[in-house]
Amino acid sequence: MTTTAIVVCTWSGARGEVLEEAEAALTLGRKVSVALGGELQWLVVGAMPEGGAEIAQRQGVAVLENIEDAKLAGGQADAFVEALAQYCAERSPRLVLFSQGFDTRLVAPRLAGRLGSGVVVNAVDIEAAADSPLKVTASAYGGDTRVVYELAGAEPCIVSLLANAVLPESVEGAASPSVRNVAVDLSSVEERIRVVEAARTEGPRLEDAEIIVSGGRGLSSPDNYKLVEQLAEALGGLPGASRPLVDEGWVDSSRQVGLTGKITRPGLYVAAGISGASQHMAGCGAAKAIVAINTDPDAAIFRYARYGIVGDCLAILPELIRAAKK
Ligand SMILES: Cc1cc2nc3c(=O)[nH]c(=O)nc-3n(C[C@H](O)[C@H](O)[C@H](O)COP(=O)(O)OP(=O)(O)OC[C@H]3O[C@@H](n4cnc5c(N)ncnc54)[C@H](O)[C@@H]3O)c2cc1C
Repeated sequence: MTTTAIVVCTWSGARGEVLEEAEAALTLGRKVSVALGGELQWLVVGAMPEGGAEIAQRQGVAVLENIEDAKLAGGQADAFVEALAQYCAERSPRLVLFSQGFDTRLVAPRLAGRLGSGVVVNAVDIEAAADSPLKVTASAYGGDTRVVYELAGAEPCIVSLLANAVLPESVEGAASPSVRNVAVDLSSVEERIRVVEAARTEGPRLEDAEIIVSGGRGLSSPDNYKLVEQLAEALGGLPGASRPLVDEGWVDSSRQVGLTGKITRPGLYVAAGISGASQHMAGCGAAKAIVAINTDPDAAIFRYARYGIVGDCLAILPELIRAAKK
């Protein structure tokens, strides 16, 4: 039997602090649950995050559920898929919504395969109406376009929400959620993939930065990236980069902005020597203001920029650093 429960799923052990992204997914889940007249549930797989109950309340969650099992602690996918498959078989939710990270890419398609249901990743919005299939808008073709998928097949629909696609919005005066522990049997799960090394980034995250200064291939040499770092520091922001700088080994991959890097939503994004390829813009196009510095007046980045400077970034960045330090 299919219910109208909308379940936002967070895998707390795998990515550490992802609460803001979970909140964004809860906000979208609430919109869907209001449209369908269903119950919004937040399923935390693994240890309950600190402050989880407060987040659940301000997001209007009706039921805060938790699955805990020693096999889920290592952040391994097989146990997670099995736990969710058992959960869905018992509860029959209409929608399972994830906030997207590397772990979701591992889990969401496998869960959909197990349940024989539809899955959409890179989602940016969901439209729901009673007696109609869910319509999921997702970024496609490397961020070049958006596609609307109608999920008319078996339920639950599995959707993975792109980071920063939705801004978390809280509701006033919601009641405290009821709390429920969900029992699953993972005794027969054997992990088939062993994670031998996982990259961990320390310090502030690009996804949360209010100011980002990014450099691209127009910087000409790795040494010049220090200009990007200096301007970012002078403005109280973080340095970012286009993908070629990561591919060339100039900067660490945690700095990459774009479709295959970080999806950011800063107030100010300074792009120095970046052409404005769609895959890069997928990671910074939601910035409130983009300032672009490029020698080519026809560079695509100027289509997105609020302020454009046609010129050599190696001459302009030092001027901006001096001005920012004043
Ligand atoms: C599947 C896929 C995923 C991808 N994911 C990403 C991603 O996540 N992030 C990403 O960034 N890219 C990504 N890319 C690559 C993307 O398509 C572009 O190739 C890349 O963004 C280009 O980087 P760039 O702008 O630094 O370099 P270029 O395209 O080479 O542009 C350099 C720019 O610098 C300008 N310039 C040159 N000299 C100067 C100067 N002295 N001062 C000022 N300007 C100057 C040039 O006019 C030019 O516009 C992806 C590609 C694919 C196919």
